[in-house]
Amino acid sequence: MRNIIEIENVAKFYGDFAALTDIDLNITEGEVVCVIGPSGSGKSTLIRCINLLETYAEGGTIRVDGIPVQPGPNLDQVRAEVGMVFQSFNLFPHMSVLKNIMLAPMRVRKSSSKDAAAKALDLLKRVGISEQADKFPGQLSGGQQQRVAIARALAMEPRVLLFDEPTSALDPEMVGEVLDVMRTLAGTGVTMIVVTHEMGFARQVADRVIFMNGGQIVEAGPPEQIFDAPKEERTRDFLSAVLNH
Ligand code: ADP
Repeated sequence: MRNIIEIENVAKFYGDFAALTDIDLNITEGEVVCVIGPSGSGKSTLIRCINLLETYAEGGTIRVDGIPVQPGPNLDQVRAEVGMVFQSFNLFPHMSVLKNIMLAPMRVRKSSSKDAAAKALDLLKRVGISEQADKFPGQLSGGQQQRVAIARALAMEPRVLLFDEPTSALDPEMVGEVLDVMRTLAGTGVTMIVVTHEMGFARQVADRVIFMNGGQIVEAGPPEQIFDAPKEERTRDFLSAVLNH
């Protein structure tokens, strides 16, 4: 299988503080990777480096589909291949749901308004909320807004989707509907990297689980290995704290 993401020896500092050190990670096309670990362990920083929402000037290289992720002319190409879903949705509040989804394809891919609207409606159907197309984000529940955000990311037909704790800002009763959409997506061939505290989801959906602590990848492997037979004591400690609370 071909690597869609190659991360070599990446380091990231905030002042003297090492948010990431010695990160080596290859992700193959179509793989679903869940990143778990305590708060502050560098999970979000790692995935934000993949589309250069954070720079990693201190060292290493990241390539997406062979393209180096660096400031400069390649960046637009990288960002067109990598979609992102944020914890807090980040929808444009002054635009309808449909317009939120149409915007990037029209601006970046130069789609016609008719094509962009047809595709946006299709995507809304796919995430199960086509009846919300003309509403504004503020009129939707958190779970619905996050489903719009997923549709918006998909509208650019990304090869890779990054999710940064997509269910952490949701009321508990809405977590399931968003995870269901993500579960369906995971079967469609798009590469997904999901930072999550939802251990049930990670166990069920991930091809590989990565446990981070202190800015490093401590352990990575299939869910059965990480959850049922973790090799590292730090992984065991973390899992027993989150699974027994
Ligand atoms: P996680 O996603 O695992 O909770 P983060 O990647 O958000 O962790 O953060 C890793 C560490 O980097 C944390 O200690 C956090 O406080 C620190 N950090 C994150 N962003 C900044 C920033 N902009 N300036 C300084 N420190 C930061």
